[in-house]
Amino acid sequence: MTNRYYIQTFGCQMNKHDSERIAGHLHECGFKPALGLEQADVILVNTCYVREKAMSKVFAYLGRLRLLKNTRPDLIIGVCGCGAQGEGKALMERMPWVDFISGPQEVLRIGELVSQVRSGSSHLAALSMPDLDFEKLPLVQPHRDDSLKAWVTIIEGCNNFCSYCVVPFVRGRERSRTARAILQECQELVGQGYKEVTLLGQNVNSYRGPGRQTYSFPELLDLLARESGLGRVRFVTSHPKDLEHSLIEVMARHASLCPFLHLPVQSGSDPVLAAMNRHYSIAHYRDLITAVRSMIPDIGLTTDIIVGFPGETEHDFQATRSLLEWVRYDSAYIFHYQVRSGTAAAQMVDSVPLEVKLARLAELVELQNTITLEKHRALLGKDLDILVEGPSKRGQGLFSGRSGSNVIVHFAGNTHDIGLFRTVRVQEVFAHSVKGTLRSSTG
Ligand code: SF4
Repeated sequence: MTNRYYIQTFGCQMNKHDSERIAGHLHECGFKPALGLEQADVILVNTCYVREKAMSKVFAYLGRLRLLKNTRPDLIIGVCGCGAQGEGKALMERMPWVDFISGPQEVLRIGELVSQVRSGSSHLAALSMPDLDFEKLPLVQPHRDDSLKAWVTIIEGCNNFCSYCVVPFVRGRERSRTARAILQECQELVGQGYKEVTLLGQNVNSYRGPGRQTYSFPELLDLLARESGLGRVRFVTSHPKDLEHSLIEVMARHASLCPFLHLPVQSGSDPVLAAMNRHYSIAHYRDLITAVRSMIPDIGLTTDIIVGFPGETEHDFQATRSLLEWVRYDSAYIFHYQVRSGTAAAQMVDSVPLEVKLARLAELVELQNTITLEKHRALLGKDLDILVEGPSKRGQGLFSGRSGSNVIVHFAGNTHDIGLFRTVRVQEVFAHSVKGTLRSSTG
């Protein structure tokens, strides 16, 4: 038995970080990473349940794994994460070649599940959601692939119950880590040479650090900016209803807090926001954007939008379009509404025909692409400070990195630049990135 594992991850940054935690746990259990599927003794599929399409991809992937299992019956296949929690044991009834499933809160049981399967057990399920303080949970040391940028979870779960969303059902209620534990993890990452950390949570703004001294999210950011030693700190995701002005103030105060905010608006119409159970108005959202831009003029702003939500009229859709034109986001993740069973919205009449949803989606995507390109053009001749991440995906011997505001920047450099902060003057722009020439080192 060579004890090699392979993890296939679907979904968001939180899921990718969960896969690092699963890998860390497997290392503690004596496993090593396999170079590919063929070399693995255990294949884990870490799943996303947010959209139906994400689960369809998971099922298609598991279908391909069946062929592998037919040729190697000793291969162990586990399905982890939100999809496993959401589908439950029905997943193994539908796909009996899956040996076990485990939910997002059961990372530390995966080694034991593998052992039980090897001892002859089958179709095991670990799906409990213990209502424990995060600080009391034994945290596993993540096994990270990236050596410059790291994810650090600060809060798990969600209490918001947006009417279209399954997250509170599959990830449970909010649990914050202590500020002390987060600071310690960040300081250790600095000691290991990491330059940038992204703090993760379904709603980072509702972070409330437990312990003797409680911390709000702005206070946590202030602590990390003063004491972690990190060159850059980012965070996702912010809920507009919980974004306090003190957060904007602390971001404006510290250079290491990246001028970047992902602020999902979901719709530009108040009646649709009410039906989504979002608890803010568009007037409030616009006030937030105005306040952020007045204190942090170079802020990078991105958002999530759902078109075709139950009851969305043409008038509602035009309000979303107007909001997009007014905010002028740097980019936007735009989806058309799909029913998720178990959510409150699944009880509503899915009133917008698919062709209307798709037309609205295409219209907004085109608008946003135009805005993104215009914003990139406005950068021509300007200098951007970037953290150099490595060779560029554009090839041609280029290297690339990101600005604090999250613009992808390509330039002609060399391997010595990787991991350094550099200044690049923008000379060419593309749909999703810009290109320029190296000006100087900035540290
Ligand atoms: S804030 Fe809303 S959309 Fe985000 S995870 Fe929670 S319930 Fe889902």
